[in-house]
Amino acid sequence: MDTPGAPDDSVTPAEIRQNGARELAIRWKDGTLSRYPVRELRLACACAVCVDEWTGAGRLDPDSVPEDVHPTQISPVGRYAIQIEWSDGHATGIYPFRRLRTLGQLELSSAS
Ligand SMILES: [Zn+2]
Repeated sequence: MDTPGAPDDSVTPAEIRQNGARELAIRWKDGTLSRYPVRELRLACACAVCVDEWTGAGRLDPDSVPEDVHPTQISPVGRYAIQIEWSDGHATGIYPFRRLRTLGQLELSSAS
């Protein structure tokens, strides 16, 4: 249940940091640590360029994303999301904390 205005610790980052070039880590206020291989995050981008807005089908060709892609800048978007600018020039992706929390639970690194 969502109560408007009530902060939800499970989707509120206490700390966001990059662990080297390949990993982003978010520690949530509820104490959980989520770790994301940054390239997987790039591939999970859900912006209108990467995902068809109407069909929801992915438009991003994974082969077009460099192996060493990494965030060049991470900016907060309100209180609910971060925007990531990537080394491949892509900067329209917004990652809501709620989605990041879900992605963290899916353990992206083991998904094929
Ligand atoms: Zn995108």
